[in-house]
Amino acid sequence: MATNYISIQDAINQASKTVSIHGWVHRERGSNKLKFVTLRDSSNLIQCVFDRAVFEKRWDEIDKLQVEASLRITGEIKKDERALTGYEIQVKDFEVIGKSENFPIAKDLSIEFLADNRHLWLRSRKMTAILKIRSTVFGAIDEFFRQNGFYEYHSPIFQAVQCEGGSDLFSVNYFDQKDVFLSQSWQLYAEPAIFSLEKIYTIAPSFRAEPSKTSRHLTEYWHAEMEVAWCEFKDIQDCGEKLLKHVVKKVLEKNKEELKILERDISKLEPIVKKPFVRMTYTEALKILKDKCKMPVEWGKDLRTIEEEKLTMLYDVPIICTNYPKKVKAFYMMEDPQNPDTVQGCDFLAPEGHGEIIGGSQREHDLEKIKNRLRAQGENPKHYEFYLDTRRYGSVPHGGFGLGVERVVKWICGLESIKDAIPFPRTMERYKP
Ligand code: ATP
Ligand code: MG
Repeated sequence: MATNYISIQDAINQASKTVSIHGWVHRERGSNKLKFVTLRDSSNLIQCVFDRAVFEKRWDEIDKLQVEASLRITGEIKKDERALTGYEIQVKDFEVIGKSENFPIAKDLSIEFLADNRHLWLRSRKMTAILKIRSTVFGAIDEFFRQNGFYEYHSPIFQAVQCEGGSDLFSVNYFDQKDVFLSQSWQLYAEPAIFSLEKIYTIAPSFRAEPSKTSRHLTEYWHAEMEVAWCEFKDIQDCGEKLLKHVVKKVLEKNKEELKILERDISKLEPIVKKPFVRMTYTEALKILKDKCKMPVEWGKDLRTIEEEKLTMLYDVPIICTNYPKKVKAFYMMEDPQNPDTVQGCDFLAPEGHGEIIGGSQREHDLEKIKNRLRAQGENPKHYEFYLDTRRYGSVPHGGFGLGVERVVKWICGLESIKDAIPFPRTMERYKP
């Protein structure tokens, strides 16, 4: 980093005297006598004024400045109500560091065009704001778990088992081996580690061959997962609620400006920090869907996106929905002793129709029950021997959850699509650039 140069925000904060800044041309316009350049860096924007009387000999260079050229500028900063961010710099000296060709992104381009030019679109104010919030979210998740005594732990990405159903596995060309997949979740490799570390978490990519074109599925997403020994089902729900409160609180503290750029209504986020989440069972959810939304769902069917959406519209905080029917949930979820048709699993459904952001459960620790559930799902328990060992040597009550980081970013930022919650989204239709 060049010394003497300060960020645009720091220049604005100090407000008067000579400053040196560097950045990219966000906009430019001008006349024969004056050129106005809005300069952008990661911190903010500022209007810079070039006066021909000062730069007669270099006017050609100034006149040719194009959007996205990179510059170093020294000048006098002062308040100017008319300028976009309330300040203006009268340029005294400058250096063009990198010229720019005709920048392909102008206003009102199609979603497809922006996706093809994602590497350039990242520079937009919208994407910059989202990426800053995303960074806060990652930092807050990490902070939460570390403050609460969790160890960071890592599982392999190449795996030879499935844990979320075989239909959305990505197979890998692993030398001449068959049946090697990209990780859908860390879980089966996390459970063995609770016997040494007891409380663990990770933030890592998960991969799912999602054939559906929804606004909330990616094929590669960042998955924050936790697993704890000696816990009860309620502890898992409490932990997820505390984590989400912490994350939203941090974003509200650190990203007011970015939320404003995204035109996010902050009053929709404030209740998340202040109010307890709504908790209900799947069976209760069906009753509410029928009575309040006129959407009858047959007991035993998983909730569809549309049903989740309608349900979440009724509350201003996430719903923790528990006790789903056993047959729609993964084999490792604990059968509820009070109601063995259901499992001690929970989905956290975000308000305003954003839907599932966390999936968690108490884990079944009975070896025979797990084997039977695996068989019922068409799996051969032999392939899971390493995992079944977790139930053979000092099994303890334990549980955990997985949070889709992009789903949380989508919700907090109020985005239409999950694709804007990650720099380079991967979906069935797109793996470039
Ligand atoms: P859904 O029903 O929405 O497909 P899921 O039940 O498959 O979700 P889990 O297996 O419980 O999800 O995964 C844990 C979390 O990971 C989810 O709550 C969600 O936040 C996130 N997640 C799952 N699949 C995706 C995906 N394809 N893209 C982005 N995030 C995902
Ligand atoms: Mg899924």
